[in-house]
Amino acid sequence: MRIDQNARIGIAHLPTPLEHLPRLSEMLGGPEIYVKRDDATGLATGGNKTRKLEFLIAEALVLGADTIVTVGAMQSNHARQTAAAAARAGLRCELLLENRHAVADPAYETGGNVLLDRLLGADVIELPAGTDLEAAIERRGSQLREEGSVPYLIPIGGSNPVGALGYVGCAMELIDQARSLGLRIDRVVHASASAGTQAGLVAGFAGAAAGIAVTGLSVGMSAKQLTEAVFDIATEVAVLIEAPGSVTRDMVVVDDSHVGPGYGLPTSEMREAVEMAARTEGLILDPVYTGKAMAGLVDMIRRGRLTRGQNVVFVHTGGVAGLFAYGSVFE
Ligand SMILES: *Cc1c(COP(=O)(O)O)cnc(C)c1O
Repeated sequence: MRIDQNARIGIAHLPTPLEHLPRLSEMLGGPEIYVKRDDATGLATGGNKTRKLEFLIAEALVLGADTIVTVGAMQSNHARQTAAAAARAGLRCELLLENRHAVADPAYETGGNVLLDRLLGADVIELPAGTDLEAAIERRGSQLREEGSVPYLIPIGGSNPVGALGYVGCAMELIDQARSLGLRIDRVVHASASAGTQAGLVAGFAGAAAGIAVTGLSVGMSAKQLTEAVFDIATEVAVLIEAPGSVTRDMVVVDDSHVGPGYGLPTSEMREAVEMAARTEGLILDPVYTGKAMAGLVDMIRRGRLTRGQNVVFVHTGGVAGLFAYGSVFE
């Protein structure tokens, strides 16, 4: 397995720390909980998309692109990190953002990630709720080409095989860090949305024959849909890292029992988990992704599916900028 044959730019602070959470572990009375601090990737308040963008923006540069275009929800962390990565590479950036009116918070349309998108110099194009984002980005790409630009289109969440290479890198880091700490990792859990993070982790652990299980806590899609999406990308990533056929279907585990009423919509378990992490460990989670994933981990422990004597790693995928657009959820 290797990822060094793919073009890559260095924009993330790597390796991100792997930290023990002793007070949270003790409070829940189950496994020892560790956190992989991918909220600390360093670019414009950090997050998981930065690892993907190291490969995606590198490919854009190889292809001679002058404009990066991507899509997401209004408070997309991916869009904000893309705007920052494009700025670092000296490329124009257009963000097509769907206004889903997710929360009745005045900051939703102007604060949090949107504030940073504009500060980073991206052109923000607002789309009405329900827009077909895949069709919208294709249409914008064609327009830009007609105008003589060379656009590079990044799918939602940066989730394609090239982007997922970033999470093969994260899997490799975890294997190294566990080895130097003398730690056996029984399971990795994380928030899963557009499949790239989980696909990269699964392919990375499979390619290294590490025997580390991964559970993706869905924050939107049904388990069935997301499992398919992860398996498809992971299979293609395995080819890119020269470990074809290493990913099997049983390696893709998705739990969709903590989505609640829908993507971006708060749940009481999410609020409890966000407060618990903050008050036991000073660890800030977000309401859309990592809060729901932590709610899932807490539930797995309370149900006895992870127990004392085991070691679990929670991948903190970021999202802190988005928290500031959802302040009313915690009042
Ligand atoms: C995008 C995102 C995720 C999900 O990653 P995917 O690769 O889309 O599954 C999780 N957490 C945060 C904070 C994110 O921004």
